[in-house]
Amino acid sequence: MDCVFCKIINGEIPSEKVYEDDTCIIIKDIEPIAPVHYLMIPKKHYAYIKEATVSDAMELSFMLNKLSQIADEIGLEKGFRLIINQGDDAGQTVKHLHVHILGGKKLSWEA
Ligand code: AMP
Ligand code: ZN
Repeated sequence: MDCVFCKIINGEIPSEKVYEDDTCIIIKDIEPIAPVHYLMIPKKHYAYIKEATVSDAMELSFMLNKLSQIADEIGLEKGFRLIINQGDDAGQTVKHLHVHILGGKKLSWEA
């Protein structure tokens, strides 16, 4: 499958990985928009949050719980923001579900 995140997960494309387990990886975004900008990516490929099955959604909640546990270790001790882009209006460019994790400064709030 021609998917950049599947290729990162398979090791075909290099990435700066800060966390990995059986279900997901967390990597540094190559075009950060905050001092800390990670992407949490499930190893299972599905394009959109709208495609997530109940079992995908359960896995996603475990991933978020894991993130809460390791946040302090990866530079997010003062807080973080999570974003999932869904579709064109949100500007989703990579069609493999991912959660943006932003932090490292007091973030402004704009749409
Ligand atoms: P989205 O607009 O939600 O689809 O976000 C996709 C994100 O993936 C963007 O912030 C890109 O900078 C990031 N990205 C694309 N290719 C790579 C890559 N090879 N390694 C790390 N981040 C990437
Ligand atoms: Zn993929």
